[in-house]
Amino acid sequence: MDRIRSLEQIRPLWLSRVSSHLVNERIRESFINQLNRFFDLLLQAAESGNPALLDSLLIEWISSRTETEIDQQESSLPPLLNQFFLIIYQASCDMLSEKESTEIFGAILPIYTHAVQFTSTQESQLHVQRITEELINAKVTLERLERSKSDFISVAAHELKTPLTLIEGYASMIYDVLPEGNKRSQADLYLKGIKAGTGRLREIVDDMIDVSLIDNDLLSLNFQPIWLNRLLNLVERELAETINQRKLNFTINPFPGSDEMIFGDGERLYQAFRNVITNGIKYTPDGGKITVDGRLLPGFVETIITDTGIGIDIEDHTRIFEKFGRIGNVSLHSSGKTKFKGGGPGLGLPITKGIIEAHGGTIWVESDGFDEINLPGSTFHILLPLRKLPPDDKTAKLFRPLVEGDKR
Ligand code: ADP
Repeated sequence: MDRIRSLEQIRPLWLSRVSSHLVNERIRESFINQLNRFFDLLLQAAESGNPALLDSLLIEWISSRTETEIDQQESSLPPLLNQFFLIIYQASCDMLSEKESTEIFGAILPIYTHAVQFTSTQESQLHVQRITEELINAKVTLERLERSKSDFISVAAHELKTPLTLIEGYASMIYDVLPEGNKRSQADLYLKGIKAGTGRLREIVDDMIDVSLIDNDLLSLNFQPIWLNRLLNLVERELAETINQRKLNFTINPFPGSDEMIFGDGERLYQAFRNVITNGIKYTPDGGKITVDGRLLPGFVETIITDTGIGIDIEDHTRIFEKFGRIGNVSLHSSGKTKFKGGGPGLGLPITKGIIEAHGGTIWVESDGFDEINLPGSTFHILLPLRKLPPDDKTAKLFRPLVEGDKR
């Protein structure tokens, strides 16, 4: 009881010392009320021995902090509490006997410890809550951005298709109306140039459409019996001329599983393998080597495409599979789809990944890093499920003779 009386005794001195710390007059006025409430609760806590009596006021103070203070992670309350309790101690030393001030010190110490711990925990929780809210907001913004990027690709691709078709149509009409002779053969040369250009543009537009299909989970697969070795041979045939021109050594090693009939979308898988092999060609200097190998795993067949090219930095191993994930300086790349370091919009690998994943497979890359001098090379792994049975009744009906022939 004495302690309470002693505490009451020092209240005016404490109030004046604490409020003189508050520089701003206006704040001082409104804060006196709050300080009195604090002191009342402190008295109650000291009397009852329950330090938690201050909690409600502390929570009020914490939640009245401005957003800026929270954003800047200013820990405002614990230092203020330190001041409050220190001034109680100093005031009691100045006004009371040594015995009385020691008693007060003994009574307020547990309240002080509890108050500082409590406010620190509450403030950290508030920071965590604030950061979580910010993260959620950032995620929503990112998702919205991603969506508008995807919408833009889809709209742009469809808008580009119409004028492209017009250019192709008029170019072939020009050829038809030109009289036979010198002029026609000269025009033919120019028209071939236009055709090559529009062809490349069409490929890019088709890639953009594929990316938006994959983005929106709209890629539908036409399952049919396929053989990986046949697909790979087709890719090799399509790229033979380039491989020759670039003096590359291209080898497909027969591997277990590559000659087995599996169900997959032949056209899409062809596109996926062509993308990876074309990249192998593109990022390997003339005279280099590209090898296709593989192995059979339980339930899966793995195709491994290795090149002796410039390699890929470890931190880019995931990024290259994201749309527009081309790395390096765009202006330094040469143009042309199969030239060394030839340009491209950076959509090939995201499409390949989308196709492989739609089949229930995965794709990843291994490379010791990017080095144009030492050429560490890259190895792409493509894991496809060994789907021996048709995925649905319609496909089963269509290919029954083949499936039963394969079982025999
Ligand atoms: P791009 O149209 O740029 O070739 P891709 O999606 O096919 O787009 O590839 C993305 C990026 O990944 C490329 O720009 C290139 O930097 C890197 N890359 C892909 N394959 C290889 C490879 N075999 N060797 C080195 N870098 C590669």
